[in-house]
Amino acid sequence: MPRPIRASINLEALRHNYRIAKARSGSAMALAVVKANAYGHGLERAVRALGDIADGFALLDLAEARLLRDAGVTQPIVLLEGFFEPEDLRQVAELQLRPTVHGEAQLVMLERASLPKPIDVMLKINTGMNRLGFTAAAFPGALARLRALPAVRSITLMTHFAQSDDEVGISGQLAVFKTLAHGSGLPVSLANSAALLRFPEAVGQVVRPGIMLYGSSPMPALQRAEALGLRPVMTLTSEIIGVQELVAGQRVGYGGTFTASGAMRIGVVACGYADGYPRHAPTDTPILVGGRRTRTLGRVSMDMLACDLTHLPDEGVGSPVTLWGERLSADDVATAAGTISYELFCALAPRVPVTEKDG
Ligand SMILES: *Cc1c(COP(=O)(O)O)cnc(C)c1O
Repeated sequence: MPRPIRASINLEALRHNYRIAKARSGSAMALAVVKANAYGHGLERAVRALGDIADGFALLDLAEARLLRDAGVTQPIVLLEGFFEPEDLRQVAELQLRPTVHGEAQLVMLERASLPKPIDVMLKINTGMNRLGFTAAAFPGALARLRALPAVRSITLMTHFAQSDDEVGISGQLAVFKTLAHGSGLPVSLANSAALLRFPEAVGQVVRPGIMLYGSSPMPALQRAEALGLRPVMTLTSEIIGVQELVAGQRVGYGGTFTASGAMRIGVVACGYADGYPRHAPTDTPILVGGRRTRTLGRVSMDMLACDLTHLPDEGVGSPVTLWGERLSADDVATAAGTISYELFCALAPRVPVTEKDG
């Protein structure tokens, strides 16, 4: 028998979550963000599930975009980091991808290229996040130069928010964007999941939901995924493979970071950081055994972690364990571990077998 760990990907939940994003988008085009191997869910799988309903896709890599075209995707495909060298541009045109143009170097590459076909581009403005994009000062010049290029068929203005998921919100960045975009007559793309869910004023013509498609809340401290109508897509399960009975004073795991204060029964789960479970998840991180909520104990090892079975006397070797997903929010696990569900999903290790379910 193979090691009992599994990740199950629910394709119908993915479609359901896309429809929720779409319902918030009005008439805007909703690009399913499938970068990072569809946030760890499998690019090919996600595109197979969403191919018939998604308005378009957004990702980072030219090779991934080619894979989508080869799989028959005819919708727009946005390259969120654009292109990286002049040779990329020929493929961008041939595959009819929509690159982001976010800096002077890309603009120069475009000006020097002779493209086999015209392309649509996303002109990215840095409105305050200070990651990618033209500054307010550089933007008018960049727009004028793009407009002068016959190879550029259409331009969508784009920005990305740094704090759409917290109290600060988007008003400052949105004001900068609006001032710059005003009068251009161009379509705009602003919203990631959090902005789409919280700020209807940021919908524009193209939205870019990512994490919500995978069933997590983009702002778990403010709103839970269930309250948003989202369904978990990835469920990580395993089994108890060992049980230990402890007396007061005995320790658990590497570093002995957990000490039993009384008699305890602990379960050892076949799941560790080499499977993608966060090593920094502390004692008390939630976990389900036999469908009942309990807590992890001590340090996460490479291949195993320990959990508390003291109050679950019927559970033992062979009991099913849920690490996150259905009935145990990945957001709750991530919060306990001091991270975000995005990181949990993306870290799912290649050694974990993936199964699909549809419904
Ligand atoms: C990753 C990404 C998104 C999606 O963000 P979520 O928070 O996952 O919805 C949207 N836009 C850009 C530019 C991104 O890099």
